[in-house]
Amino acid sequence: MHADIIILGAGVVGLATAWHLKRQEPASRIVVLEQAVAACRGNSGRSAALFRNLFSSATSRDLAESSIFHYQQLAGAIAFKATGYLWHFSAEAWPQVQAAAEMLAREGEAVEILQAESSACGGLQPSPEGWPALGASLFGRSCGSLSAPALAAWYEKQFLALGGEVVYDCAVQELLPDRPSGRTADLPQQFSGVRDSKGQVWRAGQIIACTGCWLQDLLGPAGIASTVYSKKRQLFAISADQPEAIYGNSPEGSAYPVLILPYGGIYLKPVLARGLVVVGRADNLGRAFEQPYSLAAAQPEPEYFRVHIEPALQAYFPRWAAAHPDGFVVKQAWAGHYDYHWPDNNPVIEQQANLIWVGGSSGSGIMKADALGRVAAARVFGQEQAELADGRLFRVADLSLRQRAVAAEGLII
Ligand SMILES: Cc1cc2nc3c(=O)[nH]c(=O)nc-3n(C[C@H](O)[C@H](O)[C@H](O)COP(=O)(O)OP(=O)(O)OC[C@H]3O[C@@H](n4cnc5c(N)ncnc54)[C@H](O)[C@@H]3O)c2cc1C
Repeated sequence: MHADIIILGAGVVGLATAWHLKRQEPASRIVVLEQAVAACRGNSGRSAALFRNLFSSATSRDLAESSIFHYQQLAGAIAFKATGYLWHFSAEAWPQVQAAAEMLAREGEAVEILQAESSACGGLQPSPEGWPALGASLFGRSCGSLSAPALAAWYEKQFLALGGEVVYDCAVQELLPDRPSGRTADLPQQFSGVRDSKGQVWRAGQIIACTGCWLQDLLGPAGIASTVYSKKRQLFAISADQPEAIYGNSPEGSAYPVLILPYGGIYLKPVLARGLVVVGRADNLGRAFEQPYSLAAAQPEPEYFRVHIEPALQAYFPRWAAAHPDGFVVKQAWAGHYDYHWPDNNPVIEQQANLIWVGGSSGSGIMKADALGRVAAARVFGQEQAELADGRLFRVADLSLRQRAVAAEGLII
């Protein structure tokens, strides 16, 4: 099989990249190879699928805001809900983020700062004994959540409609070095294609790896350092049949926002139609990077919820905790991994010979996927700038490793 472009991985990033390439080069044969039997079966399908434009770095804002702009146009198809983000900071943490928060409130669309006493979240105990007291909150009206499987399906549908091809159950095992002269003594200068686990060879002039946490396992043996590392992240869906115990009696507007506690980056995604709240927390020091990567081994740890999340929920939401005197009921739990680019927590789009890799989305790949697809396509076409969904221009090399220009992100969960 010979294609013009092969894309490895049918997560949101691979499929967004596939569509942006195909719509610009409709005559090219572009094939996506995916090891799973359907799209979005990697970490895209395990995410909380939240989106926000509350970032201190201009890079993150460009990637996320423009993607959100695009997603808004598809709202009905992808369960796009701009419920808002209510991000609480402790009195201790607030001075470190205040300048960024004020910049966002000044320049950002629909962003405001709430002082502790006027916080919109009525159920929150602002100063529980022994826990950090609430200092101030940042409310982002344009933030919210969507359905990652629906987003992946949308990109796949558009791509297929233009004549793109997706091959499932196709695990790529090896990047094939190209020795054009035919002499095995020659050192390869590029790749001729890939070989899958069934032994089939797929040849292409351009290969794009969008394999997320699996990037280094694929690129390492081919002599490439992706600089992308995987780290486990967990989500717990717990019973929340009385929203007023969390949000008070009169939440801001009609929608219940995503909440971030003033302690430990614990975040709550309301799924109140199902009587649930999905809770997550990132742990950094002490949590291993895992290589080689195994999604199957990503299991949630009940102890992690009981020890590292539940006590904070009980302290900050006494009414909610009182309704669950024996502890919160975990209805469902799952785990996946972030594909981190350490240290700036922003994505990487880099190239070695005819291989481009797109990864390192560092926990924000859903909310940035559209922009990543556009920047990756611009890189393939050798363009210096990519035009993002809302018309802003983005310098392609900014996300590279060799000419990287990304400010460190200060608003990290
Ligand atoms: C618990 C959790 C919560 C998250 N919450 C959010 C959030 O709220 N908002 C947000 O924006 N992001 C969130 N993320 C991060 C987000 O899920 C990722 O950034 C995003 O899914 C990355 O997309 P991707 O397409 O690069 O990777 P993936 O979705 O993992 O896709 C990679 C694909 O490559 C395939 N593949 C791998 N190796 C091979 C191979 N050798 N051959 C063929 N196919 C291969 C895989 O099967 C997979 O389908 C979260 C992640 C987790 C784990």
